[in-house]
Amino acid sequence: MIQIDHISKHYGAFQVLTDCSTTVSKGEVVVVCGPSGSGKSTLIKCVNGLEPFQAGRILVNGTSVGDAGSSLPKLRSQVGMVFQHFELFPHLSIIDNLTLAQKHVLKRSTAEAVDKGMKLLERVGLTAQAAKSPGQLSGGQQQRVAIARALCMDPIVMLFDEPTSALDPEMVGEVLDVMTELAQEGMTMMCVTHEMGFARRVADRVIFMDAGRIVEDRPKQDFFDHPASERAQQFLARIL
Ligand code: ADP
Ligand code: MG
Repeated sequence: MIQIDHISKHYGAFQVLTDCSTTVSKGEVVVVCGPSGSGKSTLIKCVNGLEPFQAGRILVNGTSVGDAGSSLPKLRSQVGMVFQHFELFPHLSIIDNLTLAQKHVLKRSTAEAVDKGMKLLERVGLTAQAAKSPGQLSGGQQQRVAIARALCMDPIVMLFDEPTSALDPEMVGEVLDVMTELAQEGMTMMCVTHEMGFARRVADRVIFMDAGRIVEDRPKQDFFDHPASERAQQFLARIL
Protein backbone atom coordinates (compact mmCIF):
# COMPACT_ATOMS: atom_id res chain seq x y z
CA MET A 1 0.00 0.00 0.00
CA ILE A 2 2.92 2.33 0.78
CA GLN A 3 6.23 1.79 -0.91
CA ILE A 4 9.12 4.06 0.08
CA ASP A 5 12.15 3.52 -2.16
CA HIS A 6 15.51 5.10 -1.39
CA ILE A 7 14.18 8.50 -0.28
CA SER A 8 16.71 11.23 0.39
CA LYS A 9 15.94 14.82 1.28
CA HIS A 10 18.05 17.81 2.23
CA TYR A 11 17.47 21.39 3.29
CA GLY A 12 20.45 23.16 1.75
CA ALA A 13 23.49 21.39 3.11
CA PHE A 14 21.50 19.63 5.86
CA GLN A 15 20.61 16.04 5.03
CA VAL A 16 17.29 15.31 6.77
CA LEU A 17 16.60 11.88 5.19
CA THR A 18 19.21 9.52 3.80
CA ASP A 19 18.29 6.56 1.62
CA CYS A 20 15.13 5.56 3.49
CA SER A 21 13.27 2.50 2.20
CA THR A 22 10.37 0.53 3.61
CA THR A 23 6.97 -0.81 2.65
CA VAL A 24 3.67 -0.96 4.46
CA SER A 25 1.30 -3.67 3.27
CA LYS A 26 -2.47 -3.42 3.23
CA GLY A 27 -3.78 -3.72 6.77
CA GLU A 28 -0.38 -3.45 8.34
CA VAL A 29 0.37 -1.15 11.29
CA VAL A 30 3.89 0.25 11.43
CA VAL A 31 5.12 2.33 14.36
CA VAL A 32 7.93 4.79 13.65
CA CYS A 33 10.03 5.89 16.61
CA GLY A 34 13.39 7.48 17.26
CA PRO A 35 14.98 10.52 18.85
CA SER A 36 13.71 14.04 18.28
CA GLY A 37 15.06 15.46 15.02
CA SER A 38 15.69 12.04 13.47
CA GLY A 39 13.37 12.76 10.52
CA LYS A 40 10.20 10.89 11.52
CA SER A 41 7.79 13.75 10.75
CA THR A 42 9.58 14.56 7.52
CA LEU A 43 9.38 10.96 6.35
CA ILE A 44 5.64 10.62 6.88
CA LYS A 45 4.95 14.06 5.40
CA CYS A 46 6.73 12.87 2.26
CA VAL A 47 4.18 10.06 2.01
CA ASN A 48 1.24 12.42 1.44
CA GLY A 49 3.14 14.97 -0.58
CA LEU A 50 3.38 17.60 2.17
CA GLU A 51 7.19 17.59 1.83
CA PRO A 52 9.05 17.27 -1.44
CA PHE A 53 12.15 15.05 -1.63
CA GLN A 54 15.13 15.14 -3.97
CA ALA A 55 15.83 11.46 -4.54
CA GLY A 56 13.89 8.22 -4.52
CA ARG A 57 10.27 7.34 -5.06
CA ILE A 58 7.16 6.87 -2.96
CA LEU A 59 4.15 4.94 -4.22
CA VAL A 60 0.80 4.96 -2.46
CA ASN A 61 -1.43 2.22 -3.78
CA GLY A 62 0.59 2.29 -6.98
CA THR A 63 0.50 6.07 -7.54
CA SER A 64 3.82 7.91 -7.37
CA VAL A 65 3.55 10.82 -4.90
CA GLY A 66 6.32 12.88 -6.51
CA ASP A 67 4.75 12.98 -9.94
CA ALA A 68 1.10 12.73 -8.98
CA GLY A 69 0.69 16.21 -10.54
CA SER A 70 -2.98 17.01 -10.96
CA SER A 71 -3.98 13.93 -9.00
CA LEU A 72 -2.11 15.08 -5.87
CA PRO A 73 -5.30 16.41 -4.20
CA LYS A 74 -6.99 13.07 -4.82
CA LEU A 75 -3.99 11.17 -3.50
CA ARG A 76 -3.88 13.38 -0.42
CA SER A 77 -7.54 12.80 0.25
CA GLN A 78 -6.81 9.06 0.27
CA VAL A 79 -4.03 9.47 2.81
CA GLY A 80 -5.46 10.60 6.14
CA MET A 81 -3.10 12.52 8.36
CA VAL A 82 -3.40 13.29 12.06
CA PHE A 83 -0.93 15.70 13.66
CA GLN A 84 0.26 16.34 17.17
CA HIS A 85 -1.65 19.62 17.39
CA PHE A 86 -5.08 18.56 16.06
CA GLU A 87 -5.19 21.44 13.55
CA LEU A 88 -8.96 21.72 13.59
CA PHE A 89 -10.40 24.92 12.15
CA PRO A 90 -11.04 26.90 15.35
CA HIS A 91 -13.79 29.11 13.91
CA LEU A 92 -15.86 26.19 12.58
CA SER A 93 -18.14 23.88 14.54
CA ILE A 94 -17.10 20.26 14.94
CA ILE A 95 -19.55 19.06 12.28
CA ASP A 96 -18.39 21.79 9.88
CA ASN A 97 -14.81 20.68 10.45
CA LEU A 98 -15.89 17.20 9.41
CA THR A 99 -17.81 18.23 6.29
CA LEU A 100 -15.60 20.95 4.75
CA ALA A 101 -13.16 18.79 2.81
CA GLN A 102 -15.84 16.23 1.95
CA LYS A 103 -17.77 18.98 0.16
CA HIS A 104 -14.84 20.79 -1.42
CA VAL A 105 -12.53 17.92 -2.34
CA LEU A 106 -14.93 15.00 -2.77
CA LYS A 107 -17.86 17.19 -3.98
CA ARG A 108 -20.28 15.49 -1.62
CA SER A 109 -23.61 17.21 -0.99
CA THR A 110 -24.10 18.84 2.41
CA ALA A 111 -26.60 16.16 3.42
CA GLU A 112 -24.23 13.36 2.45
CA ALA A 113 -21.27 15.01 4.18
CA VAL A 114 -23.22 15.65 7.39
CA ASP A 115 -24.46 12.07 7.40
CA LYS A 116 -20.93 10.74 7.05
CA GLY A 117 -19.62 13.21 9.64
CA MET A 118 -22.24 12.22 12.20
CA LYS A 119 -21.50 8.51 11.65
CA LEU A 120 -17.83 9.09 12.31
CA LEU A 121 -18.51 11.29 15.34
CA GLU A 122 -20.56 8.43 16.72
CA ARG A 123 -17.69 6.08 16.10
CA VAL A 124 -15.33 8.22 18.20
CA GLY A 125 -18.02 8.77 20.84
CA LEU A 126 -18.60 12.48 20.26
CA THR A 127 -22.09 12.76 18.73
CA ALA A 128 -23.15 15.20 21.46
CA GLN A 129 -20.37 17.64 20.56
CA ALA A 130 -21.30 18.18 16.90
CA ALA A 131 -22.45 21.80 17.24
CA LYS A 132 -19.66 22.91 19.58
CA SER A 133 -16.50 24.65 18.51
CA PRO A 134 -13.09 22.99 18.94
CA GLY A 135 -12.13 25.29 21.84
CA GLN A 136 -15.00 23.88 23.91
CA LEU A 137 -13.58 20.34 23.72
CA SER A 138 -10.78 18.73 25.69
CA GLY A 139 -7.51 17.92 23.91
CA GLY A 140 -8.39 14.23 23.77
CA GLN A 141 -11.80 15.01 22.27
CA GLN A 142 -10.26 17.35 19.71
CA GLN A 143 -7.81 14.69 18.64
CA ARG A 144 -10.66 12.17 18.27
CA VAL A 145 -12.43 14.76 16.08
CA ALA A 146 -9.24 15.10 14.01
CA ILE A 147 -9.21 11.33 13.47
CA ALA A 148 -12.92 11.34 12.55
CA ARG A 149 -12.28 14.20 10.13
CA ALA A 150 -9.55 12.24 8.38
CA LEU A 151 -11.79 9.15 8.21
CA CYS A 152 -14.58 11.17 6.56
CA MET A 153 -12.47 11.15 3.39
CA ASP A 154 -12.49 7.33 3.20
CA PRO A 155 -8.70 7.13 3.33
CA ILE A 156 -6.90 4.00 2.23
CA VAL A 157 -4.00 4.79 4.55
CA MET A 158 -3.77 6.70 7.83
CA LEU A 159 -0.64 8.54 8.97
CA PHE A 160 -0.25 9.71 12.55
CA ASP A 161 2.45 12.09 13.76
CA GLU A 162 2.73 11.88 17.55
CA PRO A 163 -1.03 12.13 17.99
CA THR A 164 -0.86 11.87 21.79
CA SER A 165 2.25 13.81 22.68
CA ALA A 166 0.46 17.13 23.22
CA LEU A 167 -2.21 15.56 25.44
CA ASP A 168 -2.56 15.46 29.19
CA PRO A 169 -1.77 11.92 30.36
CA GLU A 170 -5.37 11.07 31.25
CA MET A 171 -6.45 11.71 27.65
CA VAL A 172 -3.84 9.60 25.92
CA GLY A 173 -5.80 6.37 26.41
CA GLU A 174 -8.99 7.52 24.68
CA VAL A 175 -7.04 8.47 21.54
CA LEU A 176 -5.00 5.26 21.53
CA ASP A 177 -8.27 3.30 21.92
CA VAL A 178 -9.65 4.88 18.74
CA MET A 179 -6.38 4.11 16.91
CA THR A 180 -6.41 0.53 18.19
CA GLU A 181 -9.97 0.00 16.94
CA LEU A 182 -9.00 1.39 13.57
CA ALA A 183 -6.06 -1.00 13.39
CA GLN A 184 -8.27 -3.93 14.34
CA GLU A 185 -10.67 -3.01 11.55
CA GLY A 186 -7.81 -3.47 9.11
CA MET A 187 -6.73 0.11 8.36
CA THR A 188 -3.23 0.48 6.95
CA MET A 189 -1.41 2.74 9.39
CA MET A 190 1.95 4.42 9.79
CA CYS A 191 2.21 5.94 13.26
CA VAL A 192 4.98 8.09 14.66
CA THR A 193 4.62 7.57 18.39
CA HIS A 194 6.61 6.94 21.51
CA GLU A 195 3.74 5.04 23.09
CA MET A 196 5.55 1.73 23.28
CA GLY A 197 2.58 0.04 24.98
CA PHE A 198 0.55 0.81 21.85
CA ALA A 199 3.41 -0.42 19.67
CA ARG A 200 3.59 -3.70 21.58
CA ARG A 201 -0.15 -4.27 21.43
CA VAL A 202 -1.02 -3.03 17.98
CA ALA A 203 1.99 -2.71 15.68
CA ASP A 204 3.08 -5.34 13.23
CA ARG A 205 6.46 -3.73 12.70
CA VAL A 206 8.58 -1.06 14.33
CA ILE A 207 10.84 1.31 12.43
CA PHE A 208 13.57 3.06 14.41
CA MET A 209 15.07 6.20 12.87
CA ASP A 210 18.25 8.00 13.81
CA ALA A 211 19.83 11.00 12.09
CA GLY A 212 17.68 10.69 8.98
CA ARG A 213 18.19 6.97 8.45
CA ILE A 214 15.99 3.96 9.03
CA VAL A 215 18.24 2.07 11.41
CA GLU A 216 15.85 -0.78 12.25
CA ASP A 217 12.74 -2.06 10.52
CA ARG A 218 11.64 -5.26 12.19
CA PRO A 219 8.67 -7.24 13.47
CA LYS A 220 7.78 -5.69 16.82
CA GLN A 221 8.74 -8.71 18.89
CA ASP A 222 12.25 -8.74 17.43
CA PHE A 223 12.58 -5.03 17.91
CA PHE A 224 11.59 -5.06 21.58
CA ASP A 225 13.37 -8.29 22.48
CA HIS A 226 16.60 -7.78 20.55
CA PRO A 227 17.12 -4.23 19.27
CA ALA A 228 20.11 -4.66 17.01
CA SER A 229 21.62 -1.19 17.07
CA GLU A 230 23.14 0.46 20.08
CA ARG A 231 21.11 3.61 19.35
CA ALA A 232 17.84 1.70 19.56
CA GLN A 233 18.96 -0.05 22.75
CA GLN A 234 19.75 3.32 24.34
CA PHE A 235 16.48 4.78 23.10
CA LEU A 236 14.42 1.93 24.52
CA ALA A 237 16.32 1.98 27.81
CA ARG A 238 15.42 5.65 28.19
CA ILE A 239 11.75 5.50 27.34
CA LEU A 240 10.65 2.12 28.72
P1 ADP B 1 11.39 14.32 14.08
O1 ADP B 1 9.96 14.31 13.65
O2 ADP B 1 12.01 12.96 14.11
O3 ADP B 1 11.59 15.02 15.39
P2 ADP B 1 11.76 16.11 11.84
O4 ADP B 1 11.39 15.32 10.64
O5 ADP B 1 10.75 17.08 12.34
O6 ADP B 1 12.23 15.13 13.00
O7 ADP B 1 13.07 16.93 11.56
C1 ADP B 1 14.28 16.32 11.15
C2 ADP B 1 15.36 17.36 11.07
O8 ADP B 1 15.10 18.25 9.98
C3 ADP B 1 15.52 18.21 12.30
O9 ADP B 1 16.91 18.36 12.56
C4 ADP B 1 14.89 19.52 11.93
O10 ADP B 1 15.50 20.58 12.61
C5 ADP B 1 15.17 19.58 10.44
N1 ADP B 1 14.15 20.36 9.69
C6 ADP B 1 12.81 20.11 9.68
N2 ADP B 1 12.17 21.00 8.89
C7 ADP B 1 13.13 21.83 8.40
C8 ADP B 1 13.12 22.97 7.51
N3 ADP B 1 11.98 23.42 6.97
N4 ADP B 1 14.31 23.55 7.24
C9 ADP B 1 15.46 23.09 7.77
N5 ADP B 1 15.55 22.05 8.59
C10 ADP B 1 14.41 21.42 8.92
MG1 MG C 1 8.28 15.02 14.59
